[in-house]
Order: sequence, then C-alpha cells, then structure tokens
Amino acid sequence: MKHHLHTRSSITCSDCGHTSDETMPLDACVHLYECKNCQKLMTPDSGDCCIFCSHGSHCCPTSQRESRAYREIPSASFKAASIVNAAQTS
Ligand SMILES: [Zn+2]
Repeated sequence: MKHHLHTRSSITCSDCGHTSDETMPLDACVHLYECKNCQKLMTPDSGDCCIFCSHGSHCCPTSQRESRAYREIPSASFKAASIVNAAQTS
C-alpha cells in the first residue's frame, strides 16, 4: 500500500549544466540551491514548489505524495499553509 518515494534527485544547473545528486527533505520544500560548480543560486520556476520540481530529476517527496493520493492525506493542509506563507514573504 505504501508507495516508494524518491528521496534523491539529480539537480541540473541551469547555467553550467553541472549535475549533483542531492537528498531531498521529506517534509520541507527547498527554495534555494547553490550550484556546487559555478555557485549560481537557483530558485524554483514559477508554479513549482521547490528547486527539485524545477531542476531535479524527481519532484520533491511532497509533490510525489500529493500527485498520488492527495485526497487521502489529511496533512495536505500543512502544505497549503506553507505555500501561503511563502507567498506572503515574497
Ligand atoms: Zn552551475
């Protein structure tokens, strides 16, 4: 019943093309990532919740869970709250 979640994602730098395997946090969104090669600071594309969704080989665990069974997850409200917070701080 429990689906396998990808917890590692390969991030590709939008500037130099350098890729790096990163471990994704299970319950947080990463909004800033510094390329290990050229130090470019990468941010999510508009509409994406985190850098893994925009630049990684896998979407973040939060999005993976949501796309599979969002209607079954009561804790989805905490994610909505974090999106509101992110919008207000920008
Ligand atoms: Zn780079």
